[in-house]
Amino acid sequence: MNTLSVIVPCYNEEAVITESYSRLKKVLEGIKTHKTEIIFINDGSKDRTAEMLTDIATADKQVKVLHFSRNFGHQPAVTAGIHCCESDLAVIIDADLQDPPELIPDLLETQSREQANVVYCVRDERKGESIFKKLSARLFYRSMNYLSEVNFPLDTGDFRLIDRQVMDEFKKFREKGKYIRGIISWIGFKQVPFLYQRQARFAGETKYPLSKMIQFASTAMLYFSKKPLKLATGMGFITVLIGIVYAAYTLVGKIVGYTHALSGWSSLIILITFFGGVQLLTVGVLGQYIGILFDEVKDRPEYIIDKKDNC
Ligand code: UDP
Ligand code: MG
Repeated sequence: MNTLSVIVPCYNEEAVITESYSRLKKVLEGIKTHKTEIIFINDGSKDRTAEMLTDIATADKQVKVLHFSRNFGHQPAVTAGIHCCESDLAVIIDADLQDPPELIPDLLETQSREQANVVYCVRDERKGESIFKKLSARLFYRSMNYLSEVNFPLDTGDFRLIDRQVMDEFKKFREKGKYIRGIISWIGFKQVPFLYQRQARFAGETKYPLSKMIQFASTAMLYFSKKPLKLATGMGFITVLIGIVYAAYTLVGKIVGYTHALSGWSSLIILITFFGGVQLLTVGVLGQYIGILFDEVKDRPEYIIDKKDNC
């Protein structure tokens, strides 16, 4: 019989774990075509998530739990789930029930009907999220497509079904800063969309504050695009051009006796701050890429597992 794992990253999710598990369990019990299991990743939670997950795993041998030694982040948690998964298929889903577990049978059906390697879920509508979250997400997915050489599906998170072939390829990715949805698009094979409505969080707060959102977006952009470097070079060219034009203007002014071009502290200050700013910005962009090289060269593990339940 074919096997299916459901990968669920959890960080401080005590308010949703019980409901999340019972809804997932109900859905999985209804699936007769596959032998199923749930892999929870406790991403260094500071609340009761760890105990609750261990209790669930003690009572239900079809539940595996990986406990991280500290909070490593959502993407390392999903990565650990994929690394640990031995099934033919895996579904990646959030713990907060924003992605309805009831859609899993539909994903399976789409996968087998289309003979697809990936069924990725596209957010048709997002309920219960702030205007800022919706707007920043829209902007993010669109600028990713502008910046990157790969074309990513728009408004698509990590909620998706992937098969063994994709998981095996994913395991070969050694980069530490993982933008998982990007990597899976990049891997290729047959990928089909599945439209759904993203629900409001069942309970608790988002675990993606602005600082984590910025971190996530910059990892995605820096790992998938060299365009910021090209833009920096372009900006260099434009400022050089401005300099040349201004020098010509000054020279001609001197020759024809139009001395106004030579005087003026304000123009001097404006030019100094402008060029200074452009230079710092360019150095900053370079610095971001050097930072990535620094992290990658260190070759530290992406996550550390403290203990495992049922695996
Ligand atoms: N998450 C995690 N580690 C983190 C942050 C989040 O494992 O450092 C998990 C979280 O428990 C949830 C999923 O990642 O299952 C998505 O997080 P959340 O729902 O808070 O993000 P949002 O939907 O608000 O973008
Ligand atoms: Mg959420």
